[in-house]
Amino acid sequence: MRYTFGPVPSRRLGRSLGVDLVPFKTCTYNCIYCQLGRTTSRIITLREFLQVKDIIGEVARRLQDIPRPDYITLSGSGEPTLHSRIGDIISGIKKISDVPVAVLTNGSLFWIDTVRTAVQEADLLIPSLDAGDEKIFSYVNRPHPDISFKKMAEGLCKLRECFDGPIWLEVFLVGGVTGIKSEVLKIRKWVGRIAPERVQLNTAVRTPAEGFVDAVSKEKMGEMRTLFGSHCEVIADYSRIHNIGEFYHTQEDVFELLRRRPCSVDDISSGLNLHRNETVKYVQELMDKHLIRMEKRDDTVLYCRYDNHEGRHR
Ligand code: SF4
Repeated sequence: MRYTFGPVPSRRLGRSLGVDLVPFKTCTYNCIYCQLGRTTSRIITLREFLQVKDIIGEVARRLQDIPRPDYITLSGSGEPTLHSRIGDIISGIKKISDVPVAVLTNGSLFWIDTVRTAVQEADLLIPSLDAGDEKIFSYVNRPHPDISFKKMAEGLCKLRECFDGPIWLEVFLVGGVTGIKSEVLKIRKWVGRIAPERVQLNTAVRTPAEGFVDAVSKEKMGEMRTLFGSHCEVIADYSRIHNIGEFYHTQEDVFELLRRRPCSVDDISSGLNLHRNETVKYVQELMDKHLIRMEKRDDTVLYCRYDNHEGRHR
């Protein structure tokens, strides 16, 4: 499998079959909180990175092998709207399946008319808005220099005007930066204009690209939620979802691998044939349970089990 991954348990989408449309960490942003690490290719030029027919062919084959997922989600390890033929991919998937198609996007390119048009056939759009002004946008999302805050945010407003389906807006709050009332109120002004069906608050519950990024506490997230109103929810704790059924076994496999030897995310992905996005989630789960720890060796981040003398137990 080159383009699809999962199904993965998703906080919002149930069992989601992921589809990668761009190479790893090809993105318009370089967010300080990105769970996939720093962006290696920060661009805004749309390209047909991967052949449409190859992607559709693989989705079709995958759907034959797995129980029906709740969503087919265009997301993966970069910004999917950078694929110049995302519209053809969405319509192609809809021709071979009636599973709803969701697009998980950072929302940075909807000021481009063709990008707005391309996503019209999606069943659900999940864009992001992490800041309420230029300064914080630059700090948190570190966008490509050709994307200003106003351009991006006005693009989201235009998207709302032309997209009839549901928009769930994700707002990622960083402790001490945007996880404070004054910044949330700035974001709220734009949320009012974008008028999404839902606002979903997230924070740094997985290892971020930059070590200085702090999570917002659960309690504080609850306070921030009330500022957005009743259509806002804090995205539920992910850790429990992986403990159910089929997903629990994969978590065990990751743990068993790390019991034997320290591994990077790439080692785990290739060793267990998992997509990097999935691997990151399982690793975070095990970190949260204090079953494994992170260790830096030169420039490589490795994960390994706690030694017994460190007093950690399964
Ligand atoms: S969090 Fe998303 S938008 Fe931000 S750098 Fe990572 S992949 Fe790109």
